[in-house]
Amino acid sequence: MSAMHKQAAGLTPVEEALARILADARQISGAEFRPLSECRNRVLASAVHSAIDVPPADNSSMDGYALRFEDYATGQRRFVLSQRVAAGAVGLPLEPGTAARIFTGAELPAGADAVVMQEEARAQDGAVEFGEGLRPGANVRPRGQDISVGSLAVEAGTRLSAGHLGLLASIGLPGVPVLPRLRVAILSTGNELVEPGQPLAPGQIYNSNRYMLSAMLEDLGMAVIDKGIVPDEPEGTRRLLAEAAESADVVLTTGGVSVGEEDHVKGAVEALGELQLWKLAIKPGKPLAYGRVAGKPFFGLPGNPSSVFVTFTVIARPYLQRMQGLTQDLRLQEVQAEAGFDWPKAGKRQEYLRGRLETHGDGAVVRLYPNQSSGVLASVAWGNCLVVLPVGKTVNAGEVVRVLLL
Ligand code: AMP
Ligand code: MG
Repeated sequence: MSAMHKQAAGLTPVEEALARILADARQISGAEFRPLSECRNRVLASAVHSAIDVPPADNSSMDGYALRFEDYATGQRRFVLSQRVAAGAVGLPLEPGTAARIFTGAELPAGADAVVMQEEARAQDGAVEFGEGLRPGANVRPRGQDISVGSLAVEAGTRLSAGHLGLLASIGLPGVPVLPRLRVAILSTGNELVEPGQPLAPGQIYNSNRYMLSAMLEDLGMAVIDKGIVPDEPEGTRRLLAEAAESADVVLTTGGVSVGEEDHVKGAVEALGELQLWKLAIKPGKPLAYGRVAGKPFFGLPGNPSSVFVTFTVIARPYLQRMQGLTQDLRLQEVQAEAGFDWPKAGKRQEYLRGRLETHGDGAVVRLYPNQSSGVLASVAWGNCLVVLPVGKTVNAGEVVRVLLL
């Protein structure tokens, strides 16, 4: 970094801010048993081990014919069909020297240990003939292949996705203990804000942050406590912040956290608790604040919608996930991609550009939304990733850049 490419003075670097706040994050306690149908995106409270083998017995992975491999190994190629086993049925022990007609998912009759797929067999007159090349155990899914008794199915602290829910169902659990949903209070500050559906008077704009923030929190499986819009005045801001802190595990506000005379959030936080961090070397989103309000963690996100998106995603999200008890995936997945843009001007803050990653034959190119202004929410709606540019970084098209997948 040359002298010209210094970070702006007085701002905390993003990585340092993240490390500090993550060290301060406390996991919520308690656990509640919930049916699987209500567990999507919830965080597993304790590790789950399987009480059964899945599959519970050796079964066929093909429609075909089951036999004793030792018969085949003697050179026998023609087998009398001694029984028929469909999925859900239980066959009789297989008579030596015979084969069983069998279907996908059916348990192998006792004694059978290989299956010839029907495309490789010729059945005629109650018997079947096989070719060469059958291997021991062919087309058999052994008992416990998926999960065996006693093995770990899902680790504690996992956010349950479709795959986990399927797996938990496969081991026969109707529900699991999950951590309580993190209760997140959100507050939109600004005299200019009105809700969608209302007429827009001169000077007003619609409250977009509220909907974006709620959606991002719900995507994380958290419970949103929406405290609505707070006008830009100190008393109301203090009162609503205190109310929010009382009802929730953590409080998020948007707007009102800059240095203007109409920005009352910072003062209210200092009156009710303490400000631990303010102003990061991040773009967009410099005025981000972190602290405590009546003992509860607090994030003051900036007002501009793109700044809300970026600071929530990069800073607040990992913190909230840690509070929610998640032990994995606190950071977004990062990949490298070819820049499909030029960025000639070195910044003094770490930038998070709204981009779209497109994969093609042998790689990936990331393009930028043409207007990266923090007030332009269309960039967020259009994008599927954030390009990270460290302080002082310039980019020539074709260069490799860091990309966070959303
Ligand atoms: P502030 O940080 O309060 O000065 O807000 C910065 C910019 O973001 C201003 O242009 C606000 O009008 C805008 N803004 C603040 N809150 C919201 C919101 N909830 N929805 C849309 N725009 C907002
Ligand atoms: Mg404002």
